[in-house]
Amino acid sequence: MPIRKLVVVLGDQLDHRSAAFERFDPSCDCVWMAEACEEAEHVVSAKMRTVMFLAAMRHFRDELRAKDWRVEYFELCRTGGRDSLKALLEVFIAENTPAEIIAVEPGEWRLREALRETLWPNGSGDWLQDRHFLCTRREFEVHASGRKQLRMEFFYREMRRRYSILMDGDLPVGGAWNFDAENRGSFGKAGPGQLPAPATFAPDDITKGVMSLVEKVFPDAPGTVEQFSFPVSRDQALLALGDFIRNRLPYFGRYQDAMWTGQPWLYHARLSAALNLKLLSPLEVVLSAQEAWQNGKAPIEAVEGFIRQILGWREYVRGIYWLKMPSYAEGNFFSVKVGLPSFYWSGRTEMACLKDAIEQTLHLGYAHHIQRLMVTGLYALLLGVNPKEVHEWYLGMYVDAVEWVEMPNTIGMSQFADGGVMASKPYVATGKYIQRMSNYCVGCRFDPSRSTGEGACPFTTLYWDFLDRNRKKLEGNQRMALQLKNLDRLDEAMLVEVRKRAEMLRDMA
Ligand code: FAD
Ligand code: SF4
Repeated sequence: MPIRKLVVVLGDQLDHRSAAFERFDPSCDCVWMAEACEEAEHVVSAKMRTVMFLAAMRHFRDELRAKDWRVEYFELCRTGGRDSLKALLEVFIAENTPAEIIAVEPGEWRLREALRETLWPNGSGDWLQDRHFLCTRREFEVHASGRKQLRMEFFYREMRRRYSILMDGDLPVGGAWNFDAENRGSFGKAGPGQLPAPATFAPDDITKGVMSLVEKVFPDAPGTVEQFSFPVSRDQALLALGDFIRNRLPYFGRYQDAMWTGQPWLYHARLSAALNLKLLSPLEVVLSAQEAWQNGKAPIEAVEGFIRQILGWREYVRGIYWLKMPSYAEGNFFSVKVGLPSFYWSGRTEMACLKDAIEQTLHLGYAHHIQRLMVTGLYALLLGVNPKEVHEWYLGMYVDAVEWVEMPNTIGMSQFADGGVMASKPYVATGKYIQRMSNYCVGCRFDPSRSTGEGACPFTTLYWDFLDRNRKKLEGNQRMALQLKNLDRLDEAMLVEVRKRAEMLRDMA
């Protein structure tokens, strides 16, 4: 049957309220979706991540078909020459000649560039705006224009005012914009105690089918899939949201930065993949958290800390991505070129913190923010790994990884490769930070307080080496003054030893 309107839906656009579905007429319109090998291979993708995307796509397809919509869906297979979305679309469009093609702007520069020509040769159409987000690209450009320096805090306040979230007139409720002083504690020696287990979703037949397919098509991809339990449909995502708001939100802020061996979820939401695939809208998540505070179910410091992540950071990083691409991907402020250590792909290292964070990543496709920023990210930054390799690792490993959110977090926040667009200073610390925020060091053969000699913690050695190597680039940054002053206190003999040890760690990478 001839197609009037072809609606192209990408793997991270599983949004029933998408602008692309407006005025969809099931009698003559058609949805097009495809699982292309290239999407799981343009960077090395962990099995868990590929399962997340494909399982959610197939559930979405079935929900549309249940409404009697025509969905042309191409399941993953090696087609030889037709392994990209672009190639699959070209053939479909040539064979079916739809009168009109509709698509929402992709979340990745690469795909936007690759698909525009295919969808609208001769400029006959354009992307629809992604209504999932709370700040449009244009609004972010206006926010950014005329500012010498972008800072999340100012953007976040604008967003709070615009959406009237946690506001009392023009003032923030509770008398402050943030409650960081009450947040970000550690569990102390006693540990986290009994933690509320998050809602998990046993794979149904659709997801099980995807799990075996991924094992078959990508047998050498990193990680395992046995423990897959993320929400893959909107109904499941809503259950996961309710579970978080009831059981973990009240403690979210207090333990936001804490880590504990063998405890991947702690009080985190576990909602990033559902949000990024658009099974949930950020506004409904923010409003649910605000309601919990209004009903006295969660304290302001927890609710504000959580809302800041969604209404603030999540929208802010997207704004930066589109503002700065494509040159953003090339950032390498410290001009570094060490290769990513091989243990990032296996977890085989004696460093207990890295072992736990990486093994968890391989088996769950998940690590929480501080594990990503202050364990895997910090080590790569201190060692001097090429930021592009670090970015590709993060983009491939996590179930929530989509480039618009992953890249600014990696290139900007974690590696400071953008020279300070995202963060006002590099997030660097010795192993003592990890010791304070976790129990990792207790079971580790290294000593976080030592930077030299047998048993010195590699983080601590590399921290001093990082400051020493990059002194010139950091001197102009007022926020680094104290750390550089402490560097000046080290005697030359110690620095020589630090440099030697750091070189050895780089050689081993
Ligand atoms: P919680 O800790 O419970 O936070 C709640 C929600 O806030 C998250 O679901 C997420 O939607 C949002 N959020 C929190 N922090 C950030 C942030 N810094 N930027 C954007 N949104 C945030 N997040 C991704 O969604 N995809 C990525 O590919 C990704 N890559 C990252 C890479 C690095 C190097 C770092 C340091 C962070 C990265 N993050 C990424 C941000 C953050 O680590 C994850 O959003 C978070 O760990 C997801 O787990 P959660 O849902 O339990 O989040
Ligand atoms: Fe990590 Fe160093 Fe602590 Fe070992 S001693 S767990 S390497 S911070």
